[in-house]
Amino acid sequence: MDAPFADADPVAAQSTPLRTDVLIIGAGPVGLFAAFEAGVIGLSCHIVDALKEVGGQCIELYPEKPIFDIPAVPVCTARELVERLMEQCRPFGFPIHLGQQVRSVTQRADDKRWTVVTDQGLEFDAAAILLSAGNGAFVPQRIALDEAPALEGRHVHYAVRQVAAFAGQNVIVAGGGDSALDWALALRKVARHVTLVHRRDAFRAAEATVQEVKRAAADGELDIVIGTLAALKAPGGALESVDIKQIGGAVTLPADHLIALYGLVADLGPIADWELDIRAGRVIVDTSGYESSRPGIFAVGDIAGYPNKQKLILSGFHEASLALRKAYGYAYPDKKRVHVHSSYDAKLSARILGTEAPSADLPER
Ligand SMILES: Cc1cc2nc3c(=O)[nH]c(=O)nc-3n(C[C@H](O)[C@H](O)[C@H](O)COP(=O)(O)OP(=O)(O)OC[C@H]3O[C@@H](n4cnc5c(N)ncnc54)[C@H](O)[C@@H]3O)c2cc1C
Repeated sequence: MDAPFADADPVAAQSTPLRTDVLIIGAGPVGLFAAFEAGVIGLSCHIVDALKEVGGQCIELYPEKPIFDIPAVPVCTARELVERLMEQCRPFGFPIHLGQQVRSVTQRADDKRWTVVTDQGLEFDAAAILLSAGNGAFVPQRIALDEAPALEGRHVHYAVRQVAAFAGQNVIVAGGGDSALDWALALRKVARHVTLVHRRDAFRAAEATVQEVKRAAADGELDIVIGTLAALKAPGGALESVDIKQIGGAVTLPADHLIALYGLVADLGPIADWELDIRAGRVIVDTSGYESSRPGIFAVGDIAGYPNKQKLILSGFHEASLALRKAYGYAYPDKKRVHVHSSYDAKLSARILGTEAPSADLPER
């Protein structure tokens, strides 16, 4: 492939348009697995993501949480899963273009190929498009206080990336959902003190988690404060305290770090204008090949909509593998793809292991 895999700077290194069999939009877990599958099938691909890091929700929302329902992986954190997916697709060396939000798509009348352009001006020329764009370009809901942006990343956080960064610190976790409660519980084990701040005395989290938080509060392991964030005090540029507005009063809490976990604001953004059949924010697909209402554009993972759709990583893996098999027909309309199991795929074995797999003793399929 034309560029090194993970740290490619393709904008500088290559001239556009970048020609590829498949353009994968979204480098979440499903997009990364799709890149591997593309390689297995014999399709070239480029991957593009609006974020600066690969991994989608796994890295943005719950990198250190354990995942238990990936086949043959009894447990791994979300970050480990992304690392393994990167390792799995690395042998193919497909370029990943980060910090590029895909904006427009047009189909050429003559050869039916797609021209896709990003907000940074990168242009692709693809035979097929695989949308693995999750909930669209999403951002965490941010704190609506003027002081917050200057503290972001140092004292104000919208995700927990490294638990160790909060060791021995005064931490306020704001929010009332699963993420806020889970992190309040997890951080109390390393932080000097954790306060959970929520606007009302009822939480939107799993009942067992709510009970655990209440027990921890009763036992003095953390505090719960009902109220809303009113001001952040950072006189020397470092957070020192947070003012909380309460019904009939106010309280000031000492704080080194404020972690706001209010959930995500996501929308499909430009994809909504692509003349696809979109219902309730999902791209409707035909499940025989996960193709959208526009032939040649496929949707897999969380963005795909069909009856009984489950937003699970393993569902996305399956969807990607079927979609790419159908996409092959757009890239190579005159070629018949011959299926070979990976265990008997000599070319694949050579690429991944550097050794040829046996090919003469293929069992009948
Ligand atoms: C807290 C939490 C815990 C979870 N636990 C589990 C679990 O245990 N097991 C499980 O199976 N699932 C779990 N899930 C669900 C799982 O994370 C999702 O199903 C999975 O991330 C979907 O993967 P995806 O690749 O389809 O989309 P995403 O992970 O959402 O990735 C989509 C990517 O597309 C990019 N993108 C969007 N629009 C554009 C654009 N226009 N241009 C460029 N890039 C774009 C985004 O930046 C993003 O990186 C959990 C989810 C959450 C929130």
